Amino acid sequence: MTEWRNWSGSVVAGPRAFVRPKTLEELSGVIGNARKVRVVGAGHSFMPLCETDDVLVSLSDLEGAVEIAPDRKTVWAPAGWGLDKLTAALWAEGLSLINQGDINPQSLAGATATGTHGTGAELGSLATQACGFRLAMADGSIVECGPTERPDLYQAQRLSLGLFGVAVAIRINVLPAYHLEEKVERRPLAEVAERLDELAAATRHMEFFVFPYSDDVIFKTLHPAEPEGAFVDGNDIDEAPFRIACEIGKAAPVLIPSLQRLMMRLSAKPTRRVGPAYKIFPSDRTIRFEEMEYELPRANGMATLKEAMAYIRRKRMPIAFPFEFRLTAGDDIWMSPFNKGPGASISFHQYARMPWQGAFKEIEAVFQAGDGRPHWAKRHTLTPDDVHRLYPKAPDYLAARKAADPEGKFANAHLSALFGL
Ligand SMILES: Cc1cc2nc3c(=O)[nH]c(=O)nc-3n(C[C@H](O)[C@H](O)[C@H](O)COP(=O)(O)OP(=O)(O)OC[C@H]3O[C@@H](n4cnc5c(N)ncnc54)[C@H](O)[C@@H]3O)c2cc1C
Repeated sequence: MTEWRNWSGSVVAGPRAFVRPKTLEELSGVIGNARKVRVVGAGHSFMPLCETDDVLVSLSDLEGAVEIAPDRKTVWAPAGWGLDKLTAALWAEGLSLINQGDINPQSLAGATATGTHGTGAELGSLATQACGFRLAMADGSIVECGPTERPDLYQAQRLSLGLFGVAVAIRINVLPAYHLEEKVERRPLAEVAERLDELAAATRHMEFFVFPYSDDVIFKTLHPAEPEGAFVDGNDIDEAPFRIACEIGKAAPVLIPSLQRLMMRLSAKPTRRVGPAYKIFPSDRTIRFEEMEYELPRANGMATLKEAMAYIRRKRMPIAFPFEFRLTAGDDIWMSPFNKGPGASISFHQYARMPWQGAFKEIEAVFQAGDGRPHWAKRHTLTPDDVHRLYPKAPDYLAARKAADPEGKFANAHLSALFGL
């Protein structure tokens, strides 16, 4: 037995075997012969999606290469590659992903499997850009699916949670390589709330971070730009003072409100830089946290954020981390929380070395009152009844799962409880 932990340390599993196949034949053999299989990417999910007591598979050593389509609009990419490796390889070929999230160590397969997204009012999650999958199925056979080839399997696999097969390659939309201008500045929350639509329309990507006890936000935009001189590598947020504030807040939670107001006062200086998109999108997030994120109808986003902040202040809850507020386009993916239309994403974090369970439960109720649906990789407490109430396509998803994996080889305790398998 090996011990396996997720990024935040909140999920610990003891798989009987942790295997890293090097070839497709080896992978097929492992899956075909196993009783139960879960596949792990970078282990960045907060929910126990990768937990298993049987076989845990990683594709980190699997052979593979990027294959660019003749029209250069899509590529087949090894599904187990980290987004860091993939985006660097694409850049070398003059290509970029259409959008990316906050960080880039996640695997391509892990990120699409959970509907991982960045920000951009007109841009969908990474799953919306996946237009084909090469999968190792429960019996070890390799199949392909796409909009016209095994369409039900494709529709389900677009946000799969690893329930249908092990993705070995994913066909993904790309753009000619581009540069981005990043701007980060402090703004009053009241102003951002008042002008949200106008601010969102002004740049390709807009988001902000807001501490529960501050009335100002860290406002961040990214927009395509011409290259400018040498690229200065850096981070959107200076983590050094924040790390100290988290430790002080842990030792003396009563100081958290003043610390947050002080940190915001010290962050007054706006910053700007221009660089290759694949270097500007991701930031370093080295301070471990636990996270819950709900996706709300865009019209409810700001009011729900304000309600969650007011709730925390009323109850003087010791929350060390800021909320993150992002925008995402609607989509048509069966189990996507964005499939009702344009979404506002609100992430609620807590320093991993402080208690989070109680606060997450209370704030989850606020998010649900705002008609929100959770990010599947982040903390939530949905039951099978909730899943069916929130997702009209859940029966199609579960029928596709039964057809692809009748014995439930790819299910684990969490997914069986979530979907009532
Ligand atoms: C610091 C941090 C920042 C984050 N930022 C963002 C963000 O900006 N936006 C956002 O939306 N989310 C974000 N997340 C969440 C993260 O993107 C998701 O948890 C994502 O799924 C992690 O990818 P992974 O490779 O670690 O997947 P894992 O957590 O390892 O796995 C996730 C799921 O994918 C499945 N899977 C993995 N590989 C395969 C495969 N080859 N075939 C089939 N299924 C597979 C697993 O079985 C599991 O169900 C963040 C998480 C952290 C810790």
